[in-house]
Amino acid sequence: MGEPMSEPKTSHVVVIGGGVGGLAVAARLSVKGHRVTLLEHADRVGGKLFTYRREGFAFDTGPSLFTLPAVYRDLFLKTGKSLEESIDLQELDPAFRYVFPDRSEVTLPGVDPAKCAQAFGAAFGEESESQWREFTARGADMWRLTRGPFLQSPLKGWKSLLPLANPSDVNTIAPFTSLRKLARKYFTDPRMITIVDRYATYTGSDPRHAPAVLATIPYIEQVFGAWHIGGGVGTLATALEKRCVEREVAIRKGVTVTNIETIDSAVSGVRLGTGEFIAADLVVSNSDATLTQELLSQQDQKRVPKISDSPSLAGFVLLLALDGNTEGLAHHNVWFPENYDAEFDAIFGKTPAPPLDPAIYACVPDDPQMRPSKDTESWFILVNAPRHDPNARNGFDWDAPKVKEKYAQNILEKLAERGTDIRSRIKWMEIRTPADLEREVMAPGGSIYGTSSNGPRAAFTRPANQSVISGLYLVGGSSHPGGGLPLVGMGAEITSELIGRAKKSNP
Ligand SMILES: Cc1cc2nc3c(=O)[nH]c(=O)nc-3n(C[C@H](O)[C@H](O)[C@H](O)COP(=O)(O)OP(=O)(O)OC[C@H]3O[C@@H](n4cnc5c(N)ncnc54)[C@H](O)[C@@H]3O)c2cc1C
Repeated sequence: MGEPMSEPKTSHVVVIGGGVGGLAVAARLSVKGHRVTLLEHADRVGGKLFTYRREGFAFDTGPSLFTLPAVYRDLFLKTGKSLEESIDLQELDPAFRYVFPDRSEVTLPGVDPAKCAQAFGAAFGEESESQWREFTARGADMWRLTRGPFLQSPLKGWKSLLPLANPSDVNTIAPFTSLRKLARKYFTDPRMITIVDRYATYTGSDPRHAPAVLATIPYIEQVFGAWHIGGGVGTLATALEKRCVEREVAIRKGVTVTNIETIDSAVSGVRLGTGEFIAADLVVSNSDATLTQELLSQQDQKRVPKISDSPSLAGFVLLLALDGNTEGLAHHNVWFPENYDAEFDAIFGKTPAPPLDPAIYACVPDDPQMRPSKDTESWFILVNAPRHDPNARNGFDWDAPKVKEKYAQNILEKLAERGTDIRSRIKWMEIRTPADLEREVMAPGGSIYGTSSNGPRAAFTRPANQSVISGLYLVGGSSHPGGGLPLVGMGAEITSELIGRAKKSNP
């Protein structure tokens, strides 16, 4: 008789990073029988998804708009209690208010394309109503064609388009048409084109280069709803963390992975900044794809494809605690500038700089859990911005002295010029630059979405969820299918499907 066989161990998956993608994949994999350890650099999980609280005021410093909750409904149901039992999901009506330089404006409900079309009609004339109906019908067709074969499937490069065998399907997607060009085909009122342009920034992109297929975003927003989560959208991260703990995911915070190690071209584990080695059968990286590459040895780096050089834009943020109430606000508010293109020229141009007259977005939740009293307001202001680069070559040096303070005043002045002067009501203000986001959650350059969707190739050249390094997987905004809560959630599902159920590994 030989030695008695020891019990086989369950496969051990190490997840690098506890952003929404890392948490989602950890919960899913634990249900599939894997032993999961999640390693997070910061002293909290959630990454960009976070609600900041101070003196009774609360601000979603990352996502403030929750769309396509079905992705998270699926995740929560498959890992335990339902989404509705885990977070306080709230429908918004009114949801969006868009204000133009001539002070014309439109307010939209958070769900229902027909009602949105009517609102456009009432604000800008009948033509806009019928044109919006036609535009969202095109968005619906695009969604039907891309959802299964592309967004919910592993990336196969251009082959992802193969299921669109029918030339009319390719025409519907219009892969070589920009979002701006598509909007010009549908709308006569320039304000409607500006509203469509803004959806390119939901993927960190320039509407003049982003693909027409982003017309799916307003369709999704209006059909499946634009939601708030009571207490802050960041409470989704708290719920995800709780779910991971319930599923026995081991979460370690305040630890930084510095190396992904391999033996015979397959991952063997990760090394921490402290020198500690953690053995793993599989590694899922929720770190930005460019940083993930840097965690590999020089030799392994040569084996992985080059990452797109089309990074997403970043964001300049003001957190404002205000006394009193503002007339006519919706939950989400946008004040557009005279010349929207100047903003994209400034951000994506050869010498990136903060746009002088940017579109100003403010999220002001009418949520008792997010303000100290009814006669106060918590304003989260977000302005698109160039990425941080201390050498000011491929971005802008946001750490240069006095830059952020001057730019903050510029934004408040512009807002006043556009009819909303809140300066005398400010109790306190905090400024968050792209450099701050980079330091806080390891987002290169403070990029909001990882890579942009600029150009027809961008969507097909994002890093795939399964790396060429055996046992290494990627999840999060910089990998397929892209950034934003819905897509990151879909990426987590794709990755957990690729990995599959746990196999018993040898002791
Ligand atoms: C200002 C702003 C506004 C936004 N608005 C919206 C919105 O309204 N709606 C929407 O859907 N989306 C929005 N987004 C985008 C959305 O937040 C992101 O797409 C999504 O949260 C990214 O999730 P992720 O899984 O890629 O992880 P991330 O949030 O990028 O987190 C990655 C985590 O990994 C950790 N990490 C990285 N490297 C290591 C390492 N080596 N070791 C240990 N830990 C590591 C980081 O610390 C971080 O916690 C917004 C983002 C920002 C910044």
